[in-house]
Amino acid sequence: MSDQNFDIVILGGGSGGYACALRASQLGLNVALIERDKLGGTCLHRGCIPTKALLHAAEVADLARDSAHYGVYTELQGIDINKVNEYRDGVVSKLYKGLQGLVSHGKSITYIEGNGRLVANNAVEVDGTRYVGKNVVLATGSYARSLPGLEIGGRIVTSDQALNLDWIPSKVIVLGGGVIGVEFASVWRSFGSEVTVIEGLPRIVPAEEESVSKALDRAFRKRGITVKAGVKFANATQTDEKVTVSLESGETIDADLLLVAVGRGANGSGHGFEEVGITVDRGWIPTNDRLQTNVSNVYAVGDLVPGLQLAHRGFQHGIFVAEEIAGLNPRVIDEKAIPRVTYCEPEIASVGYTETQAKEKYGADNVESYEYNLGGNGKSQILGTAGFIKLVRTKNGGPIVGVHMIGSRVGEQIGEAQLIYAWEATPEDVAPYVHAHPTQNEALGEAHLALAGKPLHAHA
Ligand SMILES: Cc1cc2nc3c(=O)[nH]c(=O)nc-3n(C[C@H](O)[C@H](O)[C@H](O)COP(=O)(O)OP(=O)(O)OC[C@H]3O[C@@H](n4cnc5c(N)ncnc54)[C@H](O)[C@@H]3O)c2cc1C
Repeated sequence: MSDQNFDIVILGGGSGGYACALRASQLGLNVALIERDKLGGTCLHRGCIPTKALLHAAEVADLARDSAHYGVYTELQGIDINKVNEYRDGVVSKLYKGLQGLVSHGKSITYIEGNGRLVANNAVEVDGTRYVGKNVVLATGSYARSLPGLEIGGRIVTSDQALNLDWIPSKVIVLGGGVIGVEFASVWRSFGSEVTVIEGLPRIVPAEEESVSKALDRAFRKRGITVKAGVKFANATQTDEKVTVSLESGETIDADLLLVAVGRGANGSGHGFEEVGITVDRGWIPTNDRLQTNVSNVYAVGDLVPGLQLAHRGFQHGIFVAEEIAGLNPRVIDEKAIPRVTYCEPEIASVGYTETQAKEKYGADNVESYEYNLGGNGKSQILGTAGFIKLVRTKNGGPIVGVHMIGSRVGEQIGEAQLIYAWEATPEDVAPYVHAHPTQNEALGEAHLALAGKPLHAHA
């Protein structure tokens, strides 16, 4: 058996792993990046990018369907799902090529294809070769979970299979009203499917501000999506023709397809982590706030680490760990400052605390909020979207501690919202800055004007 020596050995080439490799290489560290499937991981091949391409195709379908509203007569003749998939694959493969180029040009990155196993707290073995690192970064990501007794196969799928369908279900049940569930529900509805979303908690997108959940529920019902929240799934059975879902209430629902979108588990088991003394908690790898595991030279990044499962969190984790190992003492990542976007129609974007969380943290009497309705925003009216921007601040001149938005395309506004939150700006700090008219960004400016006591296109 031969050994190869590196400053960092990274296991997993998804968002967290490859970001770590690229930054480490910029810092002159010698890196081994080990990936058993495709560089880019879930986000590029089975997550963010392909789903957002589908959502864009869905937006095009909606526009074609509704174009007469704008006085433009088109006819939606149909959706050719193979062509949609071709367009989606084109986007993915262009980005994949670009990423492969970045990694292969990384001055000090050795890319290794194969299944890696941690065989010591400083070594990963792949096909008989040991890659020894002064530091090891675990970045093996996550997988789509199911429920006990609910087997994936046939007409019962997770997002992995849903992305590769070469047909459009005429009736589909989405089990789980979280981010992935509502995004697929939105796509299929735009493609003409009859869609039912089942959520066990009292509201869909339960991690979001309550008023945002309500607004999405309303918008989905208006779009003809059936939302059943606060109902408990009992079981699902399938035949060649259909899948039947039973609820604990005794109600049954038939469909062509059942998407199981009940969350993602962490992929920390089966790679030798526990055997070399790393603490693994049901697949998750607990770390301190410097992303260090219980073994000091072993770090974990991305979806493996309990918290938000988002690609940009993985990127930031990867960059952080590379800088930490290089001795740059990077600033600890504030999980609350990580922007969250759900790309269904209408979109949802948020950062910081919900009003309820803020009241828990700062005291119920110390928090105030304001909701700016997109009805007063010119660009939103031009686009024909309803929605709002809700700001949460602490009283007595305190900063903005939460921004919550819903409406078509509001995801694009999250950048400024994030800076306002992270820089602890007050509405009075933001109010003097001019926001371009007519943009949706202006709505963010107007919300701050209103909360600073000088509303413009809003009632005082
Ligand atoms: C349908 C869907 C939509 C999503 N949309 C968004 C979105 O819009 N925005 C967003 O921010 N996030 C989104 N996400 C989440 C995002 O994809 C993840 O947060 C991100 O991919 C996590 O990166 P990671 O590096 O931790 O893990 P992964 O991307 O899962 O990468 C882990 C890699 O490790 C490799 N690996 C595992 N074990 C081994 C081993 N033993 N040896 C070698 N290689 C191994 C795997 O092959 C994989 O490539 C979405 C996810 C899904 C499923």
